[in-house]
Amino acid sequence: MDLYEYQGKELFKRFGIPVSEGRLATTPEEARAAAEEIGGQVVVKAQVLTGGRGKAGGVKLAEDAADAEQKAADILGLDIRGHVVKKIWIEQASGIAKEYYLSITFDRGEKKPLFMLTTEGGVEIEEVADKNPDAISRLHVDPLEGFQPWQARRLIYGAGIDDPGEQKQILSIIGRLYEAFVQCDAMLCEVNPLIVTPGGEVRALDSKFTVDDNALYRHEDIAAMRDLDAYPPEERVAREKGVTYVKLDGDVGILGNGAGLVMSTLDVIALAGGRAANFCDLGGGGGAEGVVDALEVIASDPQVKSILFNIFGGITRCDEVARGILTALDRMQIDRPIVVRLDGTNAEEGRRLLEESDAPIDVEPTMLDAAKRAVELAAAA
Ligand code: GDP
Ligand code: MN
Repeated sequence: MDLYEYQGKELFKRFGIPVSEGRLATTPEEARAAAEEIGGQVVVKAQVLTGGRGKAGGVKLAEDAADAEQKAADILGLDIRGHVVKKIWIEQASGIAKEYYLSITFDRGEKKPLFMLTTEGGVEIEEVADKNPDAISRLHVDPLEGFQPWQARRLIYGAGIDDPGEQKQILSIIGRLYEAFVQCDAMLCEVNPLIVTPGGEVRALDSKFTVDDNALYRHEDIAAMRDLDAYPPEERVAREKGVTYVKLDGDVGILGNGAGLVMSTLDVIALAGGRAANFCDLGGGGGAEGVVDALEVIASDPQVKSILFNIFGGITRCDEVARGILTALDRMQIDRPIVVRLDGTNAEEGRRLLEESDAPIDVEPTMLDAAKRAVELAAAA
């Protein structure tokens, strides 16, 4: 789960990482009030779950409260890389002498958390990695040994930061960021820029904080930070109904039972020259309730042009799934063509049920035939 900048900063603050004082606002009037409370020059920052806000006009300095109201009006409603700005963060403006970059993430190859620090902050790290890779100081932390202060020192020297005041502050920030990363079960904690003010004070000016979805059950407070409005409608429905759902970028909606079967269905769709729009895993069950929920999720994705059911009956019997599909179609209107492949336990009975019904379903004998048909129907739509 990705957190908004203001939420990431709240966590930073909790772990003692210095951030600027700020307030959240959703209207220009609230922005004005927030700026009045903070006093002086403020920054008005779009809160969207994507980076590059500065370049897109989503970060603006304001001289006073009236100016903050104006800047807020400019930024609210802005579309930043497909994310419409509904919330803004008003923060005390910082003077910036230097912009550094600090992050910790997982290096899956090494199976260890990886710190990166560079004095070339403020721009995207990919750009630095591309043009000036030697400028990035990297360091892996052994999760069993844990983090040691000497590692932070090595990271800092590696980045070429030689001011003792900065070294001392960044040393402490690195240790705290590691704490935040581990204790919050984060996948990424990125500070870009980590600034040095003209007075020599080091502070996190931005935050990119991603928490492992699978660990959210033990972080109630972080789980509650999820903004349901920021997700497409079908993802919201899936979450509510507890349906395993993954969004992709093609146009065939996929329903299968079991992760392995669903994965191979994606391959077969590709083989047939198509692309999956998404997939739902019905898991072991194929009862009407599960099918209704999954169909509802799949069908609320506007990108779906055809729907493919790929069911292999094992413990789940195909006739049961067929009844589930028919009940689901009784209960809801699906305006896109449906292709079904049933095989395994009671497949014949299942196919007979579907073929004898007057539901608008194509029953295909094999997985490849079904995939070809679904791709054909999607292309024709
Ligand atoms: P991003 O573009 O989404 O990464 O948003 P950031 O929070 O990193 O802000 C983008 C840029 O705006 C920063 O790199 C800074 O140069 C600038 N900026 C943000 N906050 C302040 C501030 O308090 N004072 C000044 N002078 N510039 C700021
Ligand atoms: Mn940034």
